Amino acid sequence: APLSTRDYIDLEERYGARNYRPLDLVIERGEGCWVHDVEGRKYLDCLSAYSAVNQGHCHPRILETLREQAAKVTLTSRAFRNDQLPHLYKALRELSGLSRALPMNTGAEACETAIKLARKWGHTVKGIPEDRAEVIVFANNFHGRTISLISFSTEPSYRHGFGPFTPGFTVVPYDDVEALRRAITPNTCAILMEPIQAEAGVLIPRDGYLKQASELCRQHRVLFMVDEIQTGLGRTGKMFAFQHEDVRPDVIVVGKALSGGFYPVSAVMADDEVMGVLKPGQHGSTYGGNPLGCAVALTALDVLRDERLVERSAELGRTFLAALRTLKSRHVVEVRGRGLMVGLSLDIPARPACEALMKEGVLSKETHDTVIRLTPPLVITQAELDWAFERIKKVVEAL
Ligand code: PLP
Repeated sequence: APLSTRDYIDLEERYGARNYRPLDLVIERGEGCWVHDVEGRKYLDCLSAYSAVNQGHCHPRILETLREQAAKVTLTSRAFRNDQLPHLYKALRELSGLSRALPMNTGAEACETAIKLARKWGHTVKGIPEDRAEVIVFANNFHGRTISLISFSTEPSYRHGFGPFTPGFTVVPYDDVEALRRAITPNTCAILMEPIQAEAGVLIPRDGYLKQASELCRQHRVLFMVDEIQTGLGRTGKMFAFQHEDVRPDVIVVGKALSGGFYPVSAVMADDEVMGVLKPGQHGSTYGGNPLGCAVALTALDVLRDERLVERSAELGRTFLAALRTLKSRHVVEVRGRGLMVGLSLDIPARPACEALMKEGVLSKETHDTVIRLTPPLVITQAELDWAFERIKKVVEAL
């Protein structure tokens, strides 16, 4: 007999690590903005796997590429060259304007890579004494779960019990130029910043902050590194969220939607002066730059362009945000957003609201306890957004 939702949950509870607390639905199929559970129920996905499926679930073009490439060659390792990686390099160059890219797999690995690059550049180009390079990061950051990345997390539950931690990081408040200015020392090699802090609850800095931060970096010869893993590739209504201001980062980190949800592909992009510090043997990854991932990423980027998903995100985001701002609830503290990255900030825990939304057929996930994050696939239609809004209205106004 087919397993029920309860059966799957029981299996997980019995055999799985308990490092997540998922909503209790078991998805077996997805298509565009919609997912289907094992009971035959259908839901509108307003999370998009934390913005990894901006192109929608199982996009047919990406699927076709995956199938074709999987039948040719999937993994060569970087001991040899493959015929897909050069195309991805070129596509990333055109996308970012930065001259070189370094492929990895997950977001956390790409952030680690950016930090390694920055330290190496600091020691070998800027002239910081060996082992003294400092990276400035921001309160409430989220860059991933490795030891070094959690070493500068300000979220106790991400850190507690996981020490000893990696030194060399200075944490300053986000959206505070003066604090950043004060933290820069002659040993500062880089800042690593999310242009919008998504996991922290969709925190959008004041206009001008990125520009001022980047100018400070320029003045002090500090690399301006942006983590666009969640905000990049159209999510906020621009290709990259830093493009809401007139800045040019030295290092850009992407992941998630780079593969449209099919396969973990991430990348770090930088100009020659920075990327050039890495010599053969100094960094690597068995799967990084593999032909399957590269082919998938190339098509995922083509889909973003051909379906005008960045523009759609900007246009639909505007109407969605305007609609959400009409919600009448004493529990809504603020509605924040850019493009199709929206946070509904409540003065009560958001989890029950997310559970109620699920029952109405809308999937979202609380972030930082009191924020409902709404980040639907960018292929969503106005009609589907209206459908979601009606359900959000029903749930939120009943809180
Ligand atoms: N950086 C940001 C801004 C993210 O949102 C995430 C994931 O949510 C990561 C890094 C880590 O990516 P991954 O989970 O692929 O390691």
